[in-house]
This record gives sequence, C-alpha cells and structure tokens, in this order.
Amino acid sequence: MINFQLPPEYDVFRKSVTTFAQKEVAPLVEEAEEKQEFPKQLLRRMGELKMLCLTVPEEYGGPGGDIYSQCIFTEEIGYVSLGIAIGTMVHAAYCASLLVECGTQEQKQRYLPAACKGTQAWAFAATEADAGSDRTRIRTTVTDQGDHFLLNGSKCYITNSTIADYLIVEAYTDKSKGIQGLSLFIVPRNTEGLRLRKLSKAGIRCSEIAEIFFTDCKLDKSSQLGVTGEAFERVRRIRTASWLLVGARAIGVARAAFDASLAHAKTRVQFGRPLGHFQAISFKLAQMSMDIDAARLLMLRAASLYHEGKECFAEASMLKLFASEMAGRVTDQALQIHGAQGYMMDSPIQRYFRDARMLTLSEGTSEIQHINLARALGLKADDYYK
Ligand SMILES: Cc1cc2nc3c(=O)[nH]c(=O)nc-3n(C[C@H](O)[C@H](O)[C@H](O)COP(=O)(O)OP(=O)(O)OC[C@H]3O[C@@H](n4cnc5c(N)ncnc54)[C@H](O)[C@@H]3O)c2cc1C
Repeated sequence: MINFQLPPEYDVFRKSVTTFAQKEVAPLVEEAEEKQEFPKQLLRRMGELKMLCLTVPEEYGGPGGDIYSQCIFTEEIGYVSLGIAIGTMVHAAYCASLLVECGTQEQKQRYLPAACKGTQAWAFAATEADAGSDRTRIRTTVTDQGDHFLLNGSKCYITNSTIADYLIVEAYTDKSKGIQGLSLFIVPRNTEGLRLRKLSKAGIRCSEIAEIFFTDCKLDKSSQLGVTGEAFERVRRIRTASWLLVGARAIGVARAAFDASLAHAKTRVQFGRPLGHFQAISFKLAQMSMDIDAARLLMLRAASLYHEGKECFAEASMLKLFASEMAGRVTDQALQIHGAQGYMMDSPIQRYFRDARMLTLSEGTSEIQHINLARALGLKADDYYK
C-alpha cells in the first residue's frame, strides 16, 4: 500500500517545531512586520535548537537532517510568518545548500559551522533590475586581476542582504559563453565598494530586501564558489529543493488562513446562524481544505523522489506552481470569509493575503513554471535557453 503519511518520528519533530514557532517566533512577528526588520536573533536560537540548516551534514556542524524535516520546519514557521520562513530559508536552505553542493573542503569548514549556529547570516544575489527571469541579461561581472578578483555591477530584490554577513553573488566571468559563463562568488557584506539600499515591500515585510551596488569590490582569489560553467546548473539543482520549500511555506500560510477561517465560520453569526452554515461559505472552506491537501500530496511526492536521489525537476516545479497559486486562492477566500474584520490591519488575515501574493513572483514565476512543465512534456515553446 502507498503510504501518504510520514513515519511517526517526523510527528515528534513537527511538534517541537510547532511549539518553538508558537512560543518563540509568533510573539516577534507583529513588531518585526511593523519595523520591517528581520529578527536576526531567531537564527541563533534556531541554531541552538539544531533546527537551522537542517540538511547540512554533521561533519560541517549541521543537524544532518533530511528534506522531510526541512519541509516540516519550513511549513510550521510559514504558519506563523511567511516573512520569517523566507528569510530563514534563503540562509538555511539556499545558501547553506550551495556551500555544501559547490564549496571546497576549506570553504565548507570555514563557513558552514557559523551558518548552522546562526551566528553568521547569508543572502543569495542573482536578480538585477534588468535581469529577472532571464539570467542571460545579468550585467554584474567579476574580472581576474591576477592576485585578486574585481566585482562590478548591481543586484536587486535581494532577501537578507541587509542582515547578511556574506552574500553568494552570481556574476559573469565570461559573457561570451552565455549562461555557461556565470559563476558564483562569496562576498563579505562589509567589502569595500559594496553599498545597499533597503526596499519596502507590500508583504512579508519582516523579511528584509535591498538593492546592492558593487563598485570595484576587491575579492580574494579563494572567494569563487564552484567552477565557472557549472553555476547555472548548480543553482538549478538547489532550486529543485528550494521549490519543495516554497511548497511547504505556501501550505503553512494557507493552513494558517484556513484554520482562522474555519474558526470564524463557526463562531460569527449573521442572519441567525453561524456563517459556516451558509452553503456559500461552507463550500469555500471545503474547496480550501481540498486545495491545501492537494498541495501536500504534491509536496510528499516531490520530497520522496528528492529523498531517494531521483530526478524530480518537473514534480518540484509542479508543486511550486500549484502550491504558490493555491496559497493565493486560499488567503483570498479567507479574507472574503472574514469580511471587513479581516481587512483591518490588526487582523492577521490581511497579512496572510499580502504575504502569500509574493509566492508566485519569486524563485521562478508561475509563467516560468508553466514553461518548465511544458518542456517536460517535450514541447519546445518558449525555448529561450536550455
Ligand atoms: C519578495 C521577493 C524576494 C526576492 N528575493 C530574491 C533573492 O533573495 N535573490 C534574488 O536573486 N532574487 C530575489 N527575488 C527576485 C526574483 O527572483 C525575481 O522577482 C524573479 O526572478 C522574476 O523576475 P522579475 O520580478 O524581474 O520579473 P520579470 O522576469 O521581469 O517578469 C515579469 C512578468 O513577465 C513574465 N515573464 C517573464 N519571462 C516570460 C516568458 N518567457 N514567458 C512568459 N512570461 C514571462 C513573468 O512570469 C512575470 O509575470 C525576490 C523577489 C521577490 C518578489
């Protein structure tokens, strides 16, 4: 029989993450949203609890967990705050995984233990003002100056960049090679010539984001991460795992919106009965619960393939597309069910709605995921690069 449940030990882990999220994360959310500041101390606390950088092997200071525990952790943090889940995942899943995947032994030993402890924070910088979905338009370059590299250019919409100690920057070392000429570099945030401009967002306001400018930034020769020509492929592989975590975050915020809506539908009385006794409202809730369940099943399928080391690019892309759009629908319906009360700034419902909206915009937009899926069907439409 196919098992749609994870083994019981994962329930124990989920319980401990839920307790942590409710007791230690939730109380910080409102102030962090108001100030538009990521509560960086949480990274340290997650590190102490061995919940940060879950998939980093023990030899580099990580908990040596698997993709299932990473999904559970992401979902439960996403339940209380999508912004905190995103900031944490950029650090713990994206950057730490890139270090594991591409780093030399020396780089892994140097950077990973502090990343796992949460004493140093990381950001990943690929997007530029003129290079969003299309990485061939990246203009940032790194040139070899003999005993050092020089980094010039700019990046846009970079999560965590204001709180990071290090950035992983995607830049061209050889533009003539197209996408194969992209390379990754580890850039200390305090590098001379690096300037930041913090940006303000419509949602996930506690996840900090900024534009970055690099002017003749001198980089050490040991700062290249991985081999030129492999950057695009490596980032693509990490992206498969990161789509699983977008799915987990989407399920987290959708569950939060659904739970609040179900409670509201049972207690709010209009026309002599609870809202949930009107078919129009009860059908919305039925649809929302089905949507969340469908996303969870897609997540379990992609996660089990990933866990077994099997190719799951299309399955992860399908999850990312479905779950991010699902979270948009569910949080929208939650707002409808709550009426005016949900639209007020002191209600978490409007936050879920604003937060979830970003899920289809980053880490491969919905349109790009449709292209990925069409390609997986052997269709050549939108074949702009392999
Ligand atoms: C909250 C947030 C956090 C982010 N954090 C980071 C980060 O930490 N690091 C980082 O590097 N980047 C980050 N990004 C940037 C993100 O990766 C980009 O937004 C994403 O790559 C899309 O680029 P774009 O927004 O410039 O949209 P564009 O690429 O300009 O696209 C605009 C619209 O056109 C559509 N489109 C584009 N190409 C096609 C096509 N071929 N066919 C059909 N439709 C198409 C898109 O789907 C979209 O709807 C973040 C973005 C957001 C919103």
